[in-house]
Amino acid sequence: MIVESESELEPEVFITVSDVMEYLFCPRFIYFMHCLGIPQHEEKRYKVLKGRALHEAREKVNKSYIRKKLRCVRKDVAVYLVSRQNHLKGEVDEVLFLENGTAAPLDYKFAEFKDKVYRTHKYQSALYGLMIADNYGVDVNRGFVCYTRSNHLVKEVKLSNNDFERAIARVNEVLEIIQKGFYPEATKYKVRCVDCTYRNICV
Ligand code: SF4
Repeated sequence: MIVESESELEPEVFITVSDVMEYLFCPRFIYFMHCLGIPQHEEKRYKVLKGRALHEAREKVNKSYIRKKLRCVRKDVAVYLVSRQNHLKGEVDEVLFLENGTAAPLDYKFAEFKDKVYRTHKYQSALYGLMIADNYGVDVNRGFVCYTRSNHLVKEVKLSNNDFERAIARVNEVLEIIQKGFYPEATKYKVRCVDCTYRNICV
């Protein structure tokens, strides 16, 4: 998305956390969506809990669990964040403010936990973490992911400087495709092409 900067001299580009998730699935999604303006079909691979489902999930994640186990002293819910310095925007399910003065994103996944926190979930936590740090002026060194289909299991995701640097590198790669309009490499996982919206135009 192109947004005019305050000076109105140079347009600024903001991408969403979802854009980075799409890029991680296949870099060409960014080209088709942003350079050619061809939208995806409605079904999203990254299922987002909306409205009532998200509300129910929040009810089930015990408040005392969040307070005692995650050592959370306050939380903001459904926060829309914009980070100019990172060219990022997006809505985080919850921002948890922890006893030790740091903050952390909590992201609800409408999915099962399968032995490990997936790379994409870690990237997502890091991206929200960057925006939280930028907007609230606090340190972020972890995130939390709630897997609603595993009895609302909450997993901690440690976030190091390397994780943030990797997340920023992916943002820059997405920005480069959008700004320069180049045709990126296809995903190396060919199985992803089978039911892809773009398979008929992707060569
Ligand atoms: S067909 Fe395959 S390579 Fe092309 S956009 Fe879809 S997933 Fe990516």
